[in-house]
Amino acid sequence: MSKEVYKQLLEVMKSRGGGFSGADIPEFYAMVEELFTPREAEVNNAMPKGPFSAAQVAELMSRDEKEIKEILEGMANKGLCMAITLEGNVFYMRSPFMPGIFEFQFMPGTLTERDKKIAKLIYAYKTAFNAIEGSGGEPVFPSIRVITIDSTVSPEDTVHTYDQVQNYIDKYDLIAISTCYCRHAAVLRGEDIHDMPTDTCMQFGNSAQFAIERLGARKVSKQEARELLDRCEEAGLIHMSQNMADDIGFICNCDRWHCTPVTQALKTAKPALTMNSGFKPEFNADLCTACETCIERCPSEALSMGTDEVPELNEDRCFGCAVCATGCPSDAISMVHQTDFAEPPKNAKALKEAMKAAVAQG
Ligand code: SF4
Ligand code: SF4
Repeated sequence: MSKEVYKQLLEVMKSRGGGFSGADIPEFYAMVEELFTPREAEVNNAMPKGPFSAAQVAELMSRDEKEIKEILEGMANKGLCMAITLEGNVFYMRSPFMPGIFEFQFMPGTLTERDKKIAKLIYAYKTAFNAIEGSGGEPVFPSIRVITIDSTVSPEDTVHTYDQVQNYIDKYDLIAISTCYCRHAAVLRGEDIHDMPTDTCMQFGNSAQFAIERLGARKVSKQEARELLDRCEEAGLIHMSQNMADDIGFICNCDRWHCTPVTQALKTAKPALTMNSGFKPEFNADLCTACETCIERCPSEALSMGTDEVPELNEDRCFGCAVCATGCPSDAISMVHQTDFAEPPKNAKALKEAMKAAVAQG
């Protein structure tokens, strides 16, 4: 039964979509056999869409509810599915690998031998997946977006609420901070992350509740959340989330060397098409001293020194993150809105529809 259940798991995960959804290669099976026991794989394969109870899955599988509940609890605590408690009842939700199961593995920030083994298995699988499937190229419609650093936006420009990270902090009562999957995975693989912070992933609302209850995330005040964002901006990290205006579940603070979405985007000819804030930097030639700090800080190598000793922008590479602007010692950079840039879809449903429509249009 056990080989068959992992074969079925491959098809199930492919149908869930997301990044690195599945490939029929040895690295896939090596990884999933470590992540899921055969019993967990079986339950994973039976999970319906949307929130569900243990009783529902027990009925679908014609199994005892107590047994299924025990398996689901173990899976939620291992980050193999999501779980939230609503009015005293626990509901579970299935998850793709990315964003989802991969990130959940390292949110607790632990450094056990099993963590190290999983980090190596995930890395081997992702590398093998990319070798077969390619790194994907530019998406037909971006599923993620960059949120610019609003304090750097030109005072004459419009900043929508969805352009403001502060807005999400004001909006949600429950905020959690957990460990960055990408940098922690690098640490577990024995790589040097050059003192960059790792307690940088922020979850909101239900996602925060799950991360706190199951994955060792820390509940923080709005003030602590703002201070974290300041630290991330100083470290030159990029604020990123789902490409939605409302109800985002998280903000990641990404670097150019380890973060999967950024490194994948940088392999394409036009990284700006994969993720973008809709803003771009403008340089004040009178204030610029040609110190080149912005060129060094830019995570996408979108800047080079122009012949007039003012940086020049390659718009195809620019994420609109404002990491250049926060580092400029002369305040010579302002972020300006790109007028032809479309608003992000409102919510998860609108994002899915936009992605489907883009695929249909070819
Ligand atoms: S030039 Fe580089 S640092 Fe500045 S906004 Fe664009 S991607 Fe970010
Ligand atoms: S960091 Fe500021 S002053 Fe230095 S080159 Fe860039 S724009 Fe000019």
